[in-house]
Amino acid sequence: MTSHIMPTYNRLPVTFTRGQGAWLWDQNGKRYLDALSGIAVCNLGHAHPGIHEAISSQSAQLLHTSNLYGIQAQQQLADQLADASAMDNVFFCNSGAEANEAAIKIARLYGHGQNIERPKILVMEKSFHGRTLATLSATGNKKIQQGFAPLLEGFVHVPFNDIPAVETALQRHEDSVAILVEPIQGEGGVNIPERNYLKRLRNICDQNNLLLMLDEVQTGMGRTGKMFAYQHNAILPDVCTLAKALGNGVPIGACLARGKAANILTPGTHGSTFGGNPLACSAALAVLETLQSEQLPEQAMAKGQAIHHGLKRRLQENSSLRNIRHMGLMLGIELVRPCTDLVGKALENGLLINVTAENTIRLLPPLVIDQEQIELLIETLATLIQEHSEQ
Ligand SMILES: *Cc1c(COP(=O)(O)O)cnc(C)c1O
Repeated sequence: MTSHIMPTYNRLPVTFTRGQGAWLWDQNGKRYLDALSGIAVCNLGHAHPGIHEAISSQSAQLLHTSNLYGIQAQQQLADQLADASAMDNVFFCNSGAEANEAAIKIARLYGHGQNIERPKILVMEKSFHGRTLATLSATGNKKIQQGFAPLLEGFVHVPFNDIPAVETALQRHEDSVAILVEPIQGEGGVNIPERNYLKRLRNICDQNNLLLMLDEVQTGMGRTGKMFAYQHNAILPDVCTLAKALGNGVPIGACLARGKAANILTPGTHGSTFGGNPLACSAALAVLETLQSEQLPEQAMAKGQAIHHGLKRRLQENSSLRNIRHMGLMLGIELVRPCTDLVGKALENGLLINVTAENTIRLLPPLVIDQEQIELLIETLATLIQEHSEQ
């Protein structure tokens, strides 16, 4: 079959037609448990009535007018996000890569404001920040950069979760202006740093006059058990980027800034035609309100713990399990051998999972997943891992 879609993805042989909470149904009516949420997007699950209501009533009123005019929903969303994050202001865009582009532009202007001609940003090995040229240059993955030279200059890669490496890099690169880092690396394999990592980076940034810029595109919106992952550490970043779950499937990205970082972008320095339009902002307002009123970040914390414990109990004597890592409902189950084939096997068994870094099963279930679904997830996945280890 020839397709008119550019082949940028190897797609699994299934097409979904409807969803409800953590369930999805395909064209043949087969039901699947979604433990991936469209890659950490549908944190409130599928067909959430609050989101449906928000976007359907907004679409009956007004979809788009552009940022040449005031936008009520955008104002409200900025207020709510500032309130929830303790950040000062927000630039709205349409994706995670775009949110990071805004952060990178802030860092560069910040550097030029101090007469640094070629400002550098410290970024991490195994990181993922997006597919645009600037964000793939920042990304610490050679496969993603392959074939796209010349890359954007001004990024210095250091190992993740390695404070001495950051200090050494800063000595070598005196024109550094910012550190851009994911609180937990998602695409890189669900890599969770030591407890005080962000706090230490915060101190380093304060001592060296650098911006701490957190890419919370995947970890944000309740995923890790707090609304934003930095809230586990009682620190504040200077810049924080969001996207994925912010609109629960309606595309929206945001770049939040605070203090000296908040007044760097001025009229004419950045923009977006669609960014922060009434439809996307109405969806995000409903997402934020639902996350808070249903205490979904707290639920993510407890549910993540339950999945971790359940899998550990079932796989106690399994020799193919290396370890299980999690924070809230962001889970990585690392096996000793590559296990990409488990994605297709899980699909056959009615379960949607993902594998990153070749041997790490990644689970990102909707925060609304219920007890029965959690048990089904543990049972199905543990059985698949058992079979995998007996091969
Ligand atoms: C998904 C992701 C991005 C890119 O987001 P897009 O919306 O696909 O551009 C950037 N950073 C992180 C941490 C991500 O997980």
